[in-house]
Parts: sequence; C-alpha cells; structure tokens
Amino acid sequence: MRTMIAPTLKNEEAVQDLVAEINKCVHCGFCNSVCPTYQLTGNELQGPRGRIYLVKGLLERDDTNEALEDSLSKCLTCRACEPACPSGVRYGKIAEEARFLIANQSSHRSFLQRVLLNLIPNPTKFKQLYRVGRWFRPFILSKSVREALSRKLQVATTITGTEEGTVILLQGCVQQALTPEVVAHLATLLETREIRFRVVSQESCCGSLNLHLGEKEAAQSEMTANVSQIRIGSDDVILSSASGCGVTLKEYDRYLPQVADASSFARAVRDISEYLVQYEFKKAHKAERVVFQSPCTLQHGQQISGIVEAILTRTGYEVIPYRDASQCCGSAGTYSLLQPKQARALRDKKISALTDVAPDVVVTANVGCQLFLEPALDVPVLHWIELLE
Ligand code: SF4
Ligand code: SF4
Repeated sequence: MRTMIAPTLKNEEAVQDLVAEINKCVHCGFCNSVCPTYQLTGNELQGPRGRIYLVKGLLERDDTNEALEDSLSKCLTCRACEPACPSGVRYGKIAEEARFLIANQSSHRSFLQRVLLNLIPNPTKFKQLYRVGRWFRPFILSKSVREALSRKLQVATTITGTEEGTVILLQGCVQQALTPEVVAHLATLLETREIRFRVVSQESCCGSLNLHLGEKEAAQSEMTANVSQIRIGSDDVILSSASGCGVTLKEYDRYLPQVADASSFARAVRDISEYLVQYEFKKAHKAERVVFQSPCTLQHGQQISGIVEAILTRTGYEVIPYRDASQCCGSAGTYSLLQPKQARALRDKKISALTDVAPDVVVTANVGCQLFLEPALDVPVLHWIELLE
C-alpha cells in the first residue's frame, strides 16, 4: 500500500512509523477471518483491512470522519488480527496512533467516557463512586452499567510486603477495587514460598485506559509516575496479575522513549504465569474440569500461550479446550460499557462455547474478562491463581 501523507502531518515522527506499518499491508484480508467485529457484522469497515484503509485516509487528508471514528470505536483492540497477518502488520500500533491523532483533532468525549477516564485510574475515587452507583443501581437505565455495578465491594486485606524484596507486586486499579482477593491470594502464594516482595505505596494506573481512549499524554504521565516511583534493581521483577495491565507495562520503553529508566522497567515486568511457572502447587479448589479463558491481552498482546494451562494441569486440574478460544469475550477494557450491544453479542458467543464443554469453573487472567463473564455464567469465574494453594 502507498500512502501520501498530508503536508500538515509530514514532520511528525509517529506518523512516519504509522505509514511504514500501513504500507506493509497487502490487502489479502486474512485478518478479517479472525476479527470478531468483522465476523459479527460482515462489514469490511468493521474489520482490520477496512480500518487500515480508513486510517490511511486520515493520514492523507489530516482529517477525521464519522466512518473512521465509528470503525475504530468498535474495534476491540484485541489484536487477534496480528498473528493472522502474513506481512507482519502490527495493527494494534496503527489503531493506537490513529486514536491519538483523532483525539488531537476532536476533544469531544461522551459523559461515560469522561467518568471512566476520571475515575478508573484512581482506586479510591473509583470505589467511592462505585459505592454510590450501587445505591442508585435500580434506577440506572443502562443494562450494561447496572451489570457492571453488580459486584459487592469487599473489604480489602492490606498487603504490606517487605521493604527490601526483589519482587514488586502491582495491585492495579480496577482489580484493587473490585477483586482485591486476587492480589491477596497472590501475596499468600508468595509468602508461603518465602519470596520477599514489595508493594508500591502510590501505584499509578498503568496507562492502558487512557491509551485505549486516545489520551496519549495522560497515559504517558501515568507511566512516567510509575517509572519514577518504582525503583528497580538489576535482578528485580515486577509482577502483574492483570494481563490488561501487563501488556501495557511491558511496552513502557515504546511509550516513553525519552525516559531513561523506562526500558529497564519494561524488561522487569512479568505476567504472573511467567513467574509462578517455576513453582509447584496443590489444588485449592474442588473443581475438576477447568476452562482457561485466555484474555486477548495475554494470548495476542503478550503472546503467552500454554503456561497457565501447564501449571493448572500439573496441579491436578483437567484443563479442557473450547472452541474459538482466540476470540475476544467482549470485555476489552471499557468496550463492554461503551459498545454494549456488540460486547454482549460477543459475550453470548463466548458463553455458548464455554458452556458447551460443561466446566466446573472458568478461570481467566484479567479482571475485566472476569467481571464481564461472571454475571452471564452459572459456574464460578475466578482468576486462575485462585485455583492454586
Ligand atoms: S484488534 Fe480485534 S477487533 Fe480490532 S481489527 Fe484486530 S481483530 Fe478486529
Ligand atoms: S492480513 Fe495483514 S496484509 Fe492482509 S489485509 Fe490484513 S493487515 Fe493487510
């Protein structure tokens, strides 16, 4: 593909990278066959090839339009299209840069987007509003928002860690607020193995929420705060138990090219599966048949496959495969709230595939997937580490 950049964009370095990525596309359309939104709609403009074509138009005219904004807002950024591409097009990067350009041109945000951008990165504020939201839940018209408020807030155990641990345990924003039992369980797994870990007193959001919504500068400022607050030694590792955060944390060097310590930070990040694989566990749950619903941010974003399944299998669970396991469940960050109709259609497909194999429990590796699947399934939906003793 050849792209003629609009004169107003010619001097922007990020645009040159974006064009190089777009020009790798040979229009074969292999990516459409794995794209959940294309599969759902059959519409070329709701698939990766059509989206790339629309972004090309943005670069040529330096002007956004309704078709492009609609198409990108309906993209899950699941990145299922990347492994399917014979030309190695990194579609996720194209979508992300295009969202930044659109956000520069139009400052319009829906009320819900503004609420999410202001609250989610701050666990204290988030919990307060969540509590208020639950009082008014019966009066909220949006089914998706009502459902998102269905989990009762729990009293979180304070995790202290030690000051000199070489393992840094991140708690996340939504996870800290809504599933604090996951990090508490992880802390216990580490403590019982005498692994000394530290927690960060003022952990910032990893930046993924702002990235998804095109707010590059806000994301970079959250990332910079993390790099400066989390001082790491050469042997330290940073553990993330939410794959949606891990995928962003691992790319801090790309997002913060001017920050000296961003590369060593990114190199130190491990998904919890990559770290726990060196240990043995006993079963902590009576379940026998387990399905692991691998989040897109783990299997496509971090390209981690098979580790969780291997740990669970050798712990004594029967890990059962299910159809279309590479497809997004519809959660996708804030997608389930901002694109509820499409998100629910994707979830229906996922639920049908999961229930067909009759598991005792469904486990996942990201808080967003867990919370979105939970109300729609009759079996428990847990973080996979909760199955380990
Ligand atoms: S990221 Fe996911 S939804 Fe978006 S174009 Fe790629 S496969 Fe489709
Ligand atoms: S598979 Fe790759 S090269 Fe083919 S249309 Fe999709 S992005 Fe372009």
